[in-house]
Amino acid sequence: MPEELWLATGAQELYGDEVLRTVADHARQVAASLDAAPEIPLPVRDRGVVASPEAIRRLCLEANADDDCAGLVIWAHTFSPAKMWIAGLSELRKPLLHLHTQFNRELPWAEIDMAFMNLNQSAHGDRELGHVQTRLGLRRKTVAGHWSDPAVVGRIAAWARAARGWRELQRLRVARFGDNMREVAVTEGDKVEAQIRLGVSVNGYGIDELVALVREAPDAHVDELCRAYEDEYELVPALREGGERRESLRDAARIEAGLRAFLDGGGFKAFTDTFQDLGGLPQLPGIAVQRLMADGYGFGAEGDWKTAALLRAAKVMAAGLPGGTSFMEDYTYDLAEGLVLGAHMLEVCPSLSDERASCEIHPLSIGGRDDPVRLVFTARPGPAVNVALVDLGDRFRLLLNEVDVVPLPQPLPKLPVARALWRPRPDLATAAEAWLDAGGPHHTVLTDQLPREVWEDFARIAGVELALL
Ligand code: MN
Repeated sequence: MPEELWLATGAQELYGDEVLRTVADHARQVAASLDAAPEIPLPVRDRGVVASPEAIRRLCLEANADDDCAGLVIWAHTFSPAKMWIAGLSELRKPLLHLHTQFNRELPWAEIDMAFMNLNQSAHGDRELGHVQTRLGLRRKTVAGHWSDPAVVGRIAAWARAARGWRELQRLRVARFGDNMREVAVTEGDKVEAQIRLGVSVNGYGIDELVALVREAPDAHVDELCRAYEDEYELVPALREGGERRESLRDAARIEAGLRAFLDGGGFKAFTDTFQDLGGLPQLPGIAVQRLMADGYGFGAEGDWKTAALLRAAKVMAAGLPGGTSFMEDYTYDLAEGLVLGAHMLEVCPSLSDERASCEIHPLSIGGRDDPVRLVFTARPGPAVNVALVDLGDRFRLLLNEVDVVPLPQPLPKLPVARALWRPRPDLATAAEAWLDAGGPHHTVLTDQLPREVWEDFARIAGVELALL
């Protein structure tokens, strides 16, 4: 996708053509420098100098209409009287970043004259521009500092990731196989409101549509997937060629083939299922869901479409970063140590782990189908965040808790699912009390790729309140 960010540089015509030519040259250099910064995940395109209300309005309308424009970066190089920006910014519907910078980092003490002063006026020009953005009630990120400063570039990069996630939500289609887990509250929500507020489109499909594709999965494709499992994971003997549960591995591969055919055929990048509506599926999808998450698909169990959409947005925001991002559930506590053992019945993304996952088969007490095949591993230690999206009835709320994933103090020889052990910040009791008071869900997105700043930017772009716990 030719996604990109635009940089528009404010000036005014008062100073004559020569000054505007210099401003244009500086704008090109700033854009080129940001464009070349490896931290910023999108190309940055110089959209030139805007020096009149009409030029600003046209640019904002163009940004709205251009699918490839993920966000607009603005700054005032000279003074740029901000009533000129009202018409354009009032129309802008793309993520906005106000870069409060100056072309020159240092003052040239010996040479400084009034020409220099007139050319480098962002110190007051950007205050004028910030004032109007506040007057208009615009949600934007403001970043101050020299454009070559790594801290400035890092803050722009976080926003660029958030803008990518937002762009993805605008086109995201979520497929739900079956409805919500019966009687569960927090995974429910207003899908119409979600589409109005967040862009995401969520629709249900009969499980039999998926079952048909699973049954039709070509044997050659199933063979190929089984070989991939053998290459990438440590298969328990029962699942190996000639093992007594080999047919279950083939069933799991058939489910993966069918799911991929359904999702890719329908343009879905996220999905949900529920163990209460498995129709003719031979097993609850386990390894298939895990591998699809690893390939960037969003997923929510028990019909949880909000977490599925959030996970897909997170996968897009995190693209290219080291680490991992997964569907997660706070499962059980060690209250003595203040730890949360996170897991799910099966569905945790192997991107959370550096281990070679073990591919296993065990009974599942719910769902009433054959034993499901799953990947078993432990998440790598390190800082991470747990993020969740909840529907409070009159609005959506994002919740975020910074955590430290820690090593297992002891092996878990009898726990046949992928897991992560973490210590919430500042401590379990404080984090859990705040989470419960905020109405937070039990399903989350756990990521060691996207720090808090990206989520703050994402929430601001989305216009959704963010509860930091
Ligand atoms: Mn669950």
